[in-house]
Amino acid sequence: MFDQNHPLITILYIVASVLFIAGLKMMNRATTARSGNLVSGVGMFLAIVATCLLKGMSFHWILIGAVIGSAIGAVTSYAVKMTAMPEMVGLFNGFGGLASMLVAWAEFHKWREAGWQVYHGLLGAGAPDSPLFTASAIAFTAVVGAVTFSGSMIAFLKLAEKMPGRPILFKGQKIVNALIIVGVIGTSVIVCRDPSGDWAYPAFYAVMAIGLILGVTSVIPIGGADMPVVISLLNSYSGIAAAAAGFIILNNGLIVAGSLVGASGIILTQIMCKAMNRSLANVLFSGFGSVQSGGGTQVQGEVKALSIEDAYYVLEAAQSVVIVPGYGMAVAQAQHVVRELGELLEKNGAEVKYCIHPVAGRMPGHMNVLLAEANVPYEQLVEPGDVNPTIETVDVAIVIGANDVVNPAAREDKTSPLWGMPIVNVDSARTCIVLKRSMRAGFAGVENPLFFKENTRMLFGDAKASISALVAEFKD
Ligand code: NAP
Repeated sequence: MFDQNHPLITILYIVASVLFIAGLKMMNRATTARSGNLVSGVGMFLAIVATCLLKGMSFHWILIGAVIGSAIGAVTSYAVKMTAMPEMVGLFNGFGGLASMLVAWAEFHKWREAGWQVYHGLLGAGAPDSPLFTASAIAFTAVVGAVTFSGSMIAFLKLAEKMPGRPILFKGQKIVNALIIVGVIGTSVIVCRDPSGDWAYPAFYAVMAIGLILGVTSVIPIGGADMPVVISLLNSYSGIAAAAAGFIILNNGLIVAGSLVGASGIILTQIMCKAMNRSLANVLFSGFGSVQSGGGTQVQGEVKALSIEDAYYVLEAAQSVVIVPGYGMAVAQAQHVVRELGELLEKNGAEVKYCIHPVAGRMPGHMNVLLAEANVPYEQLVEPGDVNPTIETVDVAIVIGANDVVNPAAREDKTSPLWGMPIVNVDSARTCIVLKRSMRAGFAGVENPLFFKENTRMLFGDAKASISALVAEFKD
């Protein structure tokens, strides 16, 4: 058993931190992403070993927790379908926040039971002799952890379609939210000013309760179209809560891991904001009632359906093809046949690119993961900014189960909830073939004028079935 400052513990935490950073770096490229995951996992294993070696640790509780957690992880990885991954990610973010909140609660309880002097001794050599520092870390962790937990639960319910994806707004929402924020700050101040006083305990419970309410009230007014930003922001919050918990128990491994998650979550949030043409400040405060619902885009023109055979003739004559995958490709699990079709088109002399919109699918990187799984060459993956400037020269744009990310209303209709979001301008390609099962709307729930454009043809049916049929035509 070693002290927190023992060289072995310090070395193990440093090696673990280096492995976290190396693993993150490796996740930058599709080719090294899987190994990066493994490298980070080894880092986490070393961090757990270091923690178990700490003086005063009760092994059996950690072991019981690890066995239960691993069993749940193993079962869910088999039981949860790939399409349900986004809500699972939301749920996991939430549990990260809940864990941090529980650490804050347990530490506050320990402190109150033992008294500051004894508790300070338990924190180990080098612990700051400042009750204010520890109390602030406890209150901060409790608030951020609580907001992350309840906010993630709402995001989970919205993504799993167990509650309406549209913004839930009510009268006086801004005032209610302002009061909640004042309440959480006020109760945190009571905890920090006199952590040993009679009022500190009820105030601490109030901090957690108000934090939980704040998580709910800040996510319910955000509509489905903004969910990618919410998910990455909550991911960042879960990291910030973990890092703050590290400052309570003075654990360097937790501080480093939490800071990495917090920082990468914020970077991802900014990427998502850019993809949706929203500023971070706007997204942060859109939770306070600024999202408008509705948007009744008026559509003109008629829908022109296409048969598999006709689609084959169009594609057979194409010299350049851009494939735009969306959530429907994930539902249909069509990525493998899509890659096969891409190869056949190339063999036929066409230049093929896969254009991935940053918010396509239901989680950041959703389409990249699926296409990498199907071994689509990384060099063929491009972004809307690479394709849009020359899209007029593209012979055929094939939209596979995408809807919102190709909706021209984002460009043309100021009343649309999608207004301002950069899209893939497939409506400007010479021909656009849209694969979907019906005329139903996408995640944002709005009409798509693309389906009614002169150069658009609808290939109705399950994406995998349609693409498989096209592949069969090419092979014939
Ligand atoms: P989308 O707008 O949700 O549209 C998906 C389309 O796929 C639907 O219109 C559906 O039409 C079709 N589809 C479903 N199953 C299919 C199947 N088996 N075969 C063929 N088509 C099928 O998808 P998107 O264009 O990818 O846009 C993503 C949306 O999700 C955006 O609004 C984004 O803001 C939101 N979102 C993204 C994230 C993220 O991080 N990426 C997170 C949360 C939310 P049918 O029912 O007619 O087939």
